[in-house]
Amino acid sequence: MVYTILARLTGTNRLLTLGHTIASVIIAAALVSRTAAPAAAAGASPSRVRSTDATILELLREGGERSATFRALVDAIDHSSGIVYVEFGYCAFGHLHGCMLPFIASTHGNRYLRVTVMPDQRGKNRDQLLAVIGHELRHALEVFEHPDVVDVATMEAMYQTIGTPLTGGLKGYETSAARAAGDAVLSDLLRQRRPSRDVRRIAAVGGIRSSVRGQ
Ligand SMILES: [Zn+2]
Repeated sequence: MVYTILARLTGTNRLLTLGHTIASVIIAAALVSRTAAPAAAAGASPSRVRSTDATILELLREGGERSATFRALVDAIDHSSGIVYVEFGYCAFGHLHGCMLPFIASTHGNRYLRVTVMPDQRGKNRDQLLAVIGHELRHALEVFEHPDVVDVATMEAMYQTIGTPLTGGLKGYETSAARAAGDAVLSDLLRQRRPSRDVRRIAAVGGIRSSVRGQ
């Protein structure tokens, strides 16, 4: 889902929130640029689907290996003008498994988004977590496919057109495309069982694009 409760803030608060997010994105970019250095040195372009968290980087790599749908989502984002960070966190005070936050920052022709997925504290298994990530990546692609979406207001306007408002007191939107993407990723994963291997292997991968493209 797309969590837009912050888009309801007053203009002043919205600016403050957006400013904070831009700062966070810059910090995150700096962190990732360091961790992505080995991949860059090896000649591989860093993926546009990024994280500062080693566990999520491993999940992204596994998703690309086991799910053609997940791989296609990452590939489409890699060919867009957008960059999305996937990080652990909480949406709607823990009432949702994942969300794309209503922040968008533009710099040097790139648009930055942030997806948050909840750590596995409710018994979700790894495949379900990957499906949540795939669902949210589809939302990111929805934004990147619309070049007119450059700020919170234009993002909300787009989702008023393509999405369905959430119910149950939650502020935000859902789309059938994101639901279908999450379902397709889960279906792929159920057919392609996880191989047993050392999850710490991610430390030697140095970036997800090289592994995704290595298929
Ligand atoms: Zn959604």
